[in-house]
Amino acid sequence: MTLIDAGLPGSHKKILRYMAGLGDAPKGLRRILITHSDYDHVGGLAALKAATGARIFASAIEAEAIAKGIPSRSIKPANLLAKLVYGLMGRLFKAAPVQVDEFLVGGEALPILDGLNVLETPGHTPGHISLFAPSAGILFCGDSIISEKSGLRGSTGSNNWDQAKADESVRKQAALGANILCSGHGPVVMDAANKFPRL
Ligand SMILES: [Zn+2]
Repeated sequence: MTLIDAGLPGSHKKILRYMAGLGDAPKGLRRILITHSDYDHVGGLAALKAATGARIFASAIEAEAIAKGIPSRSIKPANLLAKLVYGLMGRLFKAAPVQVDEFLVGGEALPILDGLNVLETPGHTPGHISLFAPSAGILFCGDSIISEKSGLRGSTGSNNWDQAKADESVRKQAALGANILCSGHGPVVMDAANKFPRL
């Protein structure tokens, strides 16, 4: 079993419960692939690694931040309210530092789902990666594309590292023709290829 991203701090309990429901022991989790080092994607990572012994994969840039328990880019709040919110969240939610076992560089195919392709999708963070399984047509896009009730949108706003790169990463992923999109936030999207934001 492979897990993509590890949720908020405390998420390990929910993930291990879900695995138990599928009849899988913790040791059944062999790999954890991390799209980027934000606390809501690596919060459960240290506890999951301890409980399962899974090997952890991320890009070198994100791995450096994960090893320190910090985000991989500084967040530039647009106003005082955003500054207060980000400050509070940063204090409430801290991800424990974790050593990443293997670096993903982009372009490789992992032996998962008949070949899970690693894509460099920087913009939201500098070392953000996405994962695409061509045979199943499933794209796991982390926070590079957000799934909202109103539709899909690319990463924008104060916690975006580089807007031009973020837009380019959306275009690159739109060209894949994915049937199913699994975003870091929001519902799974079917018939995804026709729903990408036009940038
Ligand atoms: Zn994020």
